[in-house]
Amino acid sequence: MTKKVGLKLTTSWDDGHPLDDRLADLLMRHGVRATFYVPGENCEQRDVMSTAALRALHTQFQIGSHTRTHANLKTLTSTASAAEIRSGKAHLENQLGTAVDHFCYPGGGFNNAIAAQVRAAGFRYARTVKSFCTTRVFDPFQMPTTLQVFPHTKADYFRNFLRYGHRAHRAKPFLLALSKAKLVDRLVALAELAHDQNGCLHIWGHSWELEAVGLWASVDEALSVIVGSFDVQHVDNAAETVCKTPPSPQRVVS
Ligand SMILES: [Zn+2]
Repeated sequence: MTKKVGLKLTTSWDDGHPLDDRLADLLMRHGVRATFYVPGENCEQRDVMSTAALRALHTQFQIGSHTRTHANLKTLTSTASAAEIRSGKAHLENQLGTAVDHFCYPGGGFNNAIAAQVRAAGFRYARTVKSFCTTRVFDPFQMPTTLQVFPHTKADYFRNFLRYGHRAHRAKPFLLALSKAKLVDRLVALAELAHDQNGCLHIWGHSWELEAVGLWASVDEALSVIVGSFDVQHVDNAAETVCKTPPSPQRVVS
């Protein structure tokens, strides 16, 4: 079978759960790249992988910060939010011994002030939980995704679609996702669309939810079909993207 050329594929996985080891093995079997967003600890009482496991993961994959304690930044004061962002970065850089410039908002909680804090802390990119995007053009501090692997209800999909704007661009992926019952069919349909648009398919989730909901086989099947059908260009989260420059107070408008 001739593979379709030119699908860009990236994935991201949040929370730094010890099951990320198993997920990394699955991704490597398919040659899929990923960014793992890892907090220092998890205030929701979920385990976070050891420093040794994190360093081993970093030999194969990009690592981004997910704050110090995985607190939803929108629930914090401005001072506490800035501290979460900065100490999460310092902690992770200390564990890895290298600079970290990718960030992910816990629970997708952000606003313009929080995005500005992330930028001021020295990050270059911040991923959101905005779904149904196949574009490679975005504000780097509002990096969208295409689909979370968790089997959300149609009502959840609808809420996500309404909440995050850019509905003209997101309508087609949204309707495609709604129209397919199985994860593999949903992701393959979105891969076709991303390919046709010269965009990027960005799949994301959590290893702990793959375990909790029994999604390992479905994700394995979906990645197998995608890499079998497309001549995939595997990319890191922000690679091959055309970032829009966010508004800056220093910017002079002539
Ligand atoms: Zn998280």
